[in-house]
Amino acid sequence: MPAPPAMPEEPRLPDPGEMPDPGVLHATEQTRTYPCPSCGGMLAFDPSNDQLQCQHCGTEAPMTASRELGRVAKRDLGRAMHALQIRLAQTRTEPTADKEIVCQSCGGHTQFTGSVTAMRCPYCNTPIQRDDVKDSPARLPLDGILPLRVGEKQGRELIENWINSRRLAPNEFKKYRTLGSFSSIYLPYFTYDADTTTHYRGQRGEHYYVTVGSGDNRRRERRTRWYPASGTVYNTFVDEEGVASTDGLDNDKVHALEPWPMDELVQFSPEFVAGHLSRTYDRDAAQVHAEIVEPRMRSSIRSTCERDIGGDEQRVTSMDVRYNMLTYAHVMLPVWLLTVTYKEKPYQVFINGVTGEVQGYRPWSKIKIALLVILGLIVLGVVAYLYFRYS
Ligand SMILES: [Zn+2]
Ligand SMILES: [Zn+2]
Repeated sequence: MPAPPAMPEEPRLPDPGEMPDPGVLHATEQTRTYPCPSCGGMLAFDPSNDQLQCQHCGTEAPMTASRELGRVAKRDLGRAMHALQIRLAQTRTEPTADKEIVCQSCGGHTQFTGSVTAMRCPYCNTPIQRDDVKDSPARLPLDGILPLRVGEKQGRELIENWINSRRLAPNEFKKYRTLGSFSSIYLPYFTYDADTTTHYRGQRGEHYYVTVGSGDNRRRERRTRWYPASGTVYNTFVDEEGVASTDGLDNDKVHALEPWPMDELVQFSPEFVAGHLSRTYDRDAAQVHAEIVEPRMRSSIRSTCERDIGGDEQRVTSMDVRYNMLTYAHVMLPVWLLTVTYKEKPYQVFINGVTGEVQGYRPWSKIKIALLVILGLIVLGVVAYLYFRYS
């Protein structure tokens, strides 16, 4: 990546936090809650009707944010990281450090740990969002969100179907699903657009055939002749996403939820998070690019080089990748997560909160598998018996 140009500030993007919002910001704690206007309960974002709805009395409150908030602009990665370094040097605060807050509903003390930024009070179940992390100058600001589309009822049905279609899962595990914890959680992602020019060197292999051996052993064999090759290729990438916190989550299954329908991204508003859990990043936009997204981009650039080389086989010995443009957006994407502890081992099942795709692990039933193997052996024995008896 070329050195970022020394531009300290990003052009300012519209800040949805400035819109009127029914949420209450508790200044001393820097936390946000959504109290119901009718009772003492709390509002939650309900994806089935895109409203805030009281979980206690059912009162609906219209949202100021909507799915029509418009496209999410991307930021120049080099400039944003440079500006972040400057702000970090000035603030010297650690906004993601664990924080104890006082619940404004019940007065109980609760602890935000790790990358969690929205959770429920363990005493009164009030959903609480931590605003200080989101608004901290020492953090990359949030740009967009894919609001949840799958509601709790639909989520439970999807899990039910998924577990029931797993025939080799132990029967007790199927019962355990109701005992597991099932929650909606927004995970932090960075999504990148890029435009690259790549000079490569390599070799083009062309096949030819020779006849070797003699008599009965005479045969044609394939050989490859290699020619030097080099050239320039251009690649364009749109919305290549990488997850920015998988602490305690199954990495492979989270990746398996991709691709996300990024064309449905809207401007971030905390209203979409009301009543749900959320996390913030623990790897920044430069790290996620370097660790997750760039290797993927390089492998697709390599394929472009190979197509450019042509011939029957290709070798790429060097690639000099230059970014003409590399931008990102910091977004939150929703999942439903079922965590079941079965025989003292945790199993996680994820649902993509927008598309409804299910990904997960579940235990295998040793008894069912053993029975299947025995059944297979019996069938084999019968077939063998009939074969030798009547042939
Ligand atoms: Zn209410
Ligand atoms: Zn409380």
